[in-house]
Amino acid sequence: MPLHDKFGRRITDVRVSVTDRCNFRCVYCRSADPENYRPEDELLSWDELVGVARVLHGLGLEKVRVTGGEPMVRPGVIEFISRLRDLGFHDLSMTTNGQLLAESCDRLIRAGLHRINISLDSLDAEKFERVTRTRKFQSVMDGIHAAQASSLRPVKVNAVLVRGLNDDEVEAFAELARSAGITMRFIEFMPLDADRHWSRAVVVPAAEVRSRIHARWPLVQVPHAPSETARKYRFADGAPGEIGLIAPVTEPFCGHCSRIRITADGKLRTCLFSLQDHDLRPFLRNGASDLDLADFIKEKVLEKEHGHRINEPDFVPPSRTMVFIGG
Ligand code: SF4
Repeated sequence: MPLHDKFGRRITDVRVSVTDRCNFRCVYCRSADPENYRPEDELLSWDELVGVARVLHGLGLEKVRVTGGEPMVRPGVIEFISRLRDLGFHDLSMTTNGQLLAESCDRLIRAGLHRINISLDSLDAEKFERVTRTRKFQSVMDGIHAAQASSLRPVKVNAVLVRGLNDDEVEAFAELARSAGITMRFIEFMPLDADRHWSRAVVVPAAEVRSRIHARWPLVQVPHAPSETARKYRFADGAPGEIGLIAPVTEPFCGHCSRIRITADGKLRTCLFSLQDHDLRPFLRNGASDLDLADFIKEKVLEKEHGHRINEPDFVPPSRTMVFIGG
């Protein structure tokens, strides 16, 4: 039986975080201070991650997005993708900061990866350094070019817009979409940052991004599946590339949510903004059957939140921040 929540939403997608480590330290995600990484033995092993994926596949889930932290920093991630392919998932994608992508692109594809999301929050190398606290701009651009030259499709580039930091680059990012023929996606900043600097004042609404690009290059909306997070647009003049707007704050899309998440330390999260986790490790580490684990997951998914409460007066951000959840 396909997996449904109490609102009748079918759950078809899982985002699997394979590590809480990252080689970047983006200001809208991580703190400048060292984090309390989970000890290695608290993270799920590859066999345990495959075990969870096998059960989810049995529950009718079709799509897996591999996330982190930064998934490429954990040795064995490429083999993990091939094991997901062998389980029968027909849609395998990854969210990466792109730094290690150029050298791994071919192996990822041979392992079964279909599509990729690459984070890039500035086209200015100096600002990139300020945002990510690394000097890896060129290797990320090399990663994007390698993906573009490969069979991975679509290649999506994601920019988290923060007012006063990179919102001046909206048109430049749109130009990149047109010149490189990629899908450029703008993500509204969400209250999941480690330093809790998020406020509504630094959110750049998708409507503003849409009207700024439309004023320069008229856009035409592209039909999308209700459960998709991005609203998609093509250029009316026929230029290649696409624009995607992900607006969880100003235009929430929770009503058709089809996603759950598995954290690197083995917690089921039924919503990005869940205030509680459901620990799968007691099942994985005490010899429980796949059926037992499936029953537990079904039970918890029935409790899935209708949506985030960012726009509600009683909103409380989750104690777990983005690097410990995975995008
Ligand atoms: S905030 Fe939660 S319910 Fe809304 S789309 Fe994201 S995961 Fe789904």
